[in-house]
Amino acid sequence: MPTRVVQKTVGEYLVVGYSLAGEETTIALPELNICFDAGRSPREIIAIDTLCLSHGHMDHAAGVPYYLSQRAFVGTSAGRVVMHRGLIPAFEKLMECWAEVERHPSPVEFFGLTDGEQMPLRRDLVLRAFDVNHTAHALGFSLIEKRHKLKSEFADRTGPQLVELKKQGISIEHTVEVPLVAYCGDSADGSYFDLDHVRDAKLLIMECTFFDPDHIVRARAGRHLHVSDLDGIFSRVRSPNILLTHITRRTGIGAAKRMLQDSIQKSDFDRLTILMDRPQRATRKPDPKPARSA
Ligand SMILES: [Zn+2]
Repeated sequence: MPTRVVQKTVGEYLVVGYSLAGEETTIALPELNICFDAGRSPREIIAIDTLCLSHGHMDHAAGVPYYLSQRAFVGTSAGRVVMHRGLIPAFEKLMECWAEVERHPSPVEFFGLTDGEQMPLRRDLVLRAFDVNHTAHALGFSLIEKRHKLKSEFADRTGPQLVELKKQGISIEHTVEVPLVAYCGDSADGSYFDLDHVRDAKLLIMECTFFDPDHIVRARAGRHLHVSDLDGIFSRVRSPNILLTHITRRTGIGAAKRMLQDSIQKSDFDRLTILMDRPQRATRKPDPKPARSA
């Protein structure tokens, strides 16, 4: 069966996803075992262990129960779903309803975060939440690598000397944070772009929903970004790779690219990737196989 998701390498990361405003957004980074949002949970995200939900709008969140149910169906561990703490009671109710409908519960681990809170994903990797400017209980997420480095005052010591210092209980290392990926979900402009772990991320994933000059009103009303906002944002952001998502279906990708070129610096255009900018495919043949019934 042909898949609807797009696969792209952006900077050093493989990105697998789909994102059109109002329809569906899901962005997975399989090498980091993380997915952001689950509009309709394509099968490519089911094996990923951590799902971060940016906010509760249906085009980002409807796939959460399906993701959990599919993980139970294929026999993997319970999915770990991270979201704003304020959304968890509603999602618990939702999963209770699904358990009643399906007549069995899907295992789930919900983790609640709020602005500035973080949780470890691995020994050297944390997930930090930050407030964005969209609906209630909306969060962005940064994946931050923690690297342990020798303090400069011990740089000239030999290995045995360092071991001796450690034995004496002296701390010889300090921790450096390396922001790998920041995902801003749906959001208008805000001070979150000035957070170190957002503006310096190796890969910044952000929305730009509207492009047409007539759509500025829509952008402001829905707390989304308009192409005219980007030049100011890009002047503050140092990420070498920016992935643009959540483009409205009202504007074609070709037209959006032309408006981007007219609105932002060439150096910024060169660090941009549009997730849904994919080569036109030949006409698809219908899938001869029936859908799975189980
Ligand atoms: Zn939204």
